[in-house]
Amino acid sequence: LGGTISRALQQMSNATIIDEKVLNDCLNEITRALLQSDVQFNLVRDMQKNIKKIVNLDDLAAGHNKRKIIQQAIFNELCKILDPGKPSFTPKKGKTSVIMFVGLQGSGKTTTCTKYAFYHQKKGWKPALVCADTFRAGAFDQLKQNATKAKIPFYGRFSCIPLFVEIDLSCNSYTESDPVRIAVEGVERFKKENCDLIIVDTSGRHKQEAALFEEIVKFLKQRSIGQAAFDQAQAFKQSVAVGAVIITKMDGHAKGGGALSARAREVEFEQWGRIWSWEKVLVSCISSVASDYGDVHKDDSHNQVAATKSPVIFIGTGEHMDEFEVFDVKPFVSRLLGMGDWSGFMDKIQEVVPMDQQPELLQKLSEGNFTLRIMYEQFQNILKMGPIGQVFSMLPGFSQELMPKGREKESQAKIKRYMTMMDSMTNEGKVGQFQSQAHERISNHANS
Ligand code: GDP
Ligand code: MG
Repeated sequence: LGGTISRALQQMSNATIIDEKVLNDCLNEITRALLQSDVQFNLVRDMQKNIKKIVNLDDLAAGHNKRKIIQQAIFNELCKILDPGKPSFTPKKGKTSVIMFVGLQGSGKTTTCTKYAFYHQKKGWKPALVCADTFRAGAFDQLKQNATKAKIPFYGRFSCIPLFVEIDLSCNSYTESDPVRIAVEGVERFKKENCDLIIVDTSGRHKQEAALFEEIVKFLKQRSIGQAAFDQAQAFKQSVAVGAVIITKMDGHAKGGGALSARAREVEFEQWGRIWSWEKVLVSCISSVASDYGDVHKDDSHNQVAATKSPVIFIGTGEHMDEFEVFDVKPFVSRLLGMGDWSGFMDKIQEVVPMDQQPELLQKLSEGNFTLRIMYEQFQNILKMGPIGQVFSMLPGFSQELMPKGREKESQAKIKRYMTMMDSMTNEGKVGQFQSQAHERISNHANS
């Protein structure tokens, strides 16, 4: 999607005169790309109408930079589609937040739970995972594997044997298949341990609306949250309150389209199970890959969406733990349009460059004192920044197409090779020699 849109913009920019035809061609191309990515038809139609209204070519005097105005209008309209206009739920470090993940089967809940926990753990939180999926065989095992890899405490039961962080409580005869009970036990346990982010993974069964509802009500009764919450639960047919949305599989074919059509998806999702707030925070995982929705039926109740739409907080961009990014509307659209994402890039830099070295680095960069030693350090930092394709997609002019998935390892290896060359140089040599000899070697490498 990003590729097509930025190409359409590029074509428009290359045109000698911006007239009605050039504008229409550009908008049609973008419209086609959006529809192909499964963005809801009326959103796309409204967007096209709005852009034409803003960019009234007849009214624009010759002196106006039409290209800029069109680009800005497209940017704003895409942002408008994505921005729910309400703040997302943000947990507070040090205070307990219980977060329940809901979403269709296979949408990526279990994977994303761990990514979410891992992300916060790196930032100094104390997360914990509870597996309340007793529906799918192997669900607990999957969570356990993920959690162990990320060194995050977990709770759940596997077949007949209750487990808690790999300690066998040896109640062999005891079978627990009640997800509510497991959730309550897990949450209580981790509250006692002062975990500040308790994440509950659920089965996300579809077509079992009534059963899910029962589960939630039962859970609330057990927690004695009180009549108010219970009433709220009864009223859940009218009200939907998801704290936030995470869109998974953004690395898939749909790419940007998934985020743009999240609204539409949410309605479908609602038809399935009525997302309902559980201790205030419910995160729904929505997969950007349409086929994951299976036989969930469509409905024409799209009008409700605006009221129930929740902000997207993260996107999943792969199966690995660190393929997970904070979602922000403006930088996201920037990247979609091939305009880069400097703020995301700076955030990444701030994540990996030690605090005390940041001002110094910026100073050196602004003075033009970019020595090989600094370059070496920055290479080290880039390698720490995570998947290299992700990093490059934040730079202006680098769409993801320029760094295809399969080529990332190659580029990473290349950077490591440059570093090995630098390692073999003396301190004095790093400046002079490098320029003459190593540069040649590097360009040979680059060419090969
Ligand atoms: P759940 O049924 O909702 O718990 O879904 P899972 O977490 O088990 O995920 C289903 C499949 O999707 C697994 O094979 C995951 O590895 C995969 N998956 C989850 N998130 C992503 C993502 O962001 N990108 C890709 N490519 N695959 C993902
Ligand atoms: Mg799961």
